[in-house]
Amino acid sequence: MSWHTKTIKQISDALKAKQISSKELADYFLQRIANAKDLNAVIDLNEAKTIEQANHADALIAKGAASPLIGVPILHKDVFVTKHWKSTACSKILSDYVSPFDAHVVAKLGPDGAGMVCLGKANMDEFAMGSSNENSYAGPALNPWDKTRVPGGSSGGSAVAIAAGLSPAATGTDTGGSIRQPASLCGITGIKPTYGRVSRYGMIAYASSLDQGGPMAKTAEDCAILLNAMAGHDHKDSTSLDRPSEDYTAKLGKSWMPGEAQLLKGLKVGLPKEYFGDGLSSDVRAAVEGALEQFKKMGAECVPVSLPKTELSIPVYYVIAPAEASSNLSRFDGVRYGRRADQYSDLLDMYKRTRSEGFGTEVKRRIMIGTYVLSHGYYDAYYLKAQRIRRIIAQDFQEAFKQCDIIAGPVAPTVAGKIGEKTSDPTQMYLEDIYTLSPNLAGLPAMSAPCGFGDNGMPVGIQLIGNYFSEASLLQLAHAYQMETDWHQRLSPVAQKGGAA
Ligand code: GLN
Repeated sequence: MSWHTKTIKQISDALKAKQISSKELADYFLQRIANAKDLNAVIDLNEAKTIEQANHADALIAKGAASPLIGVPILHKDVFVTKHWKSTACSKILSDYVSPFDAHVVAKLGPDGAGMVCLGKANMDEFAMGSSNENSYAGPALNPWDKTRVPGGSSGGSAVAIAAGLSPAATGTDTGGSIRQPASLCGITGIKPTYGRVSRYGMIAYASSLDQGGPMAKTAEDCAILLNAMAGHDHKDSTSLDRPSEDYTAKLGKSWMPGEAQLLKGLKVGLPKEYFGDGLSSDVRAAVEGALEQFKKMGAECVPVSLPKTELSIPVYYVIAPAEASSNLSRFDGVRYGRRADQYSDLLDMYKRTRSEGFGTEVKRRIMIGTYVLSHGYYDAYYLKAQRIRRIIAQDFQEAFKQCDIIAGPVAPTVAGKIGEKTSDPTQMYLEDIYTLSPNLAGLPAMSAPCGFGDNGMPVGIQLIGNYFSEASLLQLAHAYQMETDWHQRLSPVAQKGGAA
């Protein structure tokens, strides 16, 4: 049986029907991970622990446990701390770090929560800074659709693993697009929830006012099942929303307006003109427009909207995110956290060497930018101004949502590029984020779902952005679309290789 082509839903049904055990599934996916080492998607394994968790799940299933995720394997992005796997955020400075506790999300999904089985840790850009997974201390992860191309970032390893059939599910985090962009570039589905919906406790911090964890999987339905287990209030995260989470599967397959035969009748989809301008490549545009046509066929109405400050999202984000990063990363000093330099003369020299040796180029660049924009004399000119524009960006969305229910557009301007193509020019790399940054700046939920293929046969995703707490509606729309299309079922060349072979 090709378990790696199955959704979480299908795997869960098979577990309950005793067609396979969790232990057999764990063996199967560990074998596929071993066979696909060249993709560099998975950077830490603890097979004994994985098998222990699977046996535990099997024992519970035998006793009749029926949670929809019990016994199903998952990979965690290396930014989530784990007791039984190293937690490095793909940085040299944390290369030996093992956490004394599990992140909230890891605990909620794991043996004492939903019962999922952790396969290991997924590759990512160092401290989640990047758009291609090339900033990883573990080296780049490769796109399973074309191994000479990047998978996107920063949750690159998570997206690669799902697209290659190394795991049915993975966690990701999204500060400025890191769930949506790799999901789009690898042809899978992922959702960044409303800021504060999923606890950040135990998620190694990059930019705390923007960071948000979320699920990545093959389908919107699988993401809904995962989000049900991940979302909810956590008193250990001061920005966690004290508001009950919904059942994100409840609206799947239902029509937008009760009683309507056409699934999307009554839905207004807003198309921001700034998302369809000059920077968008024609192949991505064609794929996204194809999806919009399908929405219309299913009864939706598309209306033009405007997000006038879209182009400011890059300068604003690349002031605020580095500012917060420079503060968050000060704890990695070789004393409180981090691998200390082997040789140094005095205390100051120890700090300098530890941080110079421990951080990669992009992380250092951001620490310097962040320190600069927060320094006396520049704070008002850069940081404060960026915060003001951030507020205007959030207001723009509220204006747009007066005219539509959900905003749709591309995730990234192009399909996945070649490895090394943009590493020498950071501003080129930052431009990749033009369509994904604003929802984070505003704190809005947004997702990516596969909608076709562009140049060189590379996958393209459509981005759906909703108002606060509209995750269930975003997933409803994406699921309705996936009931009518098969883009999400297409297999990458690596996933076409059958079984655990
Ligand atoms: N590419 C953006 C950055 O480098 C977003 C990364 C993210 O969402 N973690 O900061």
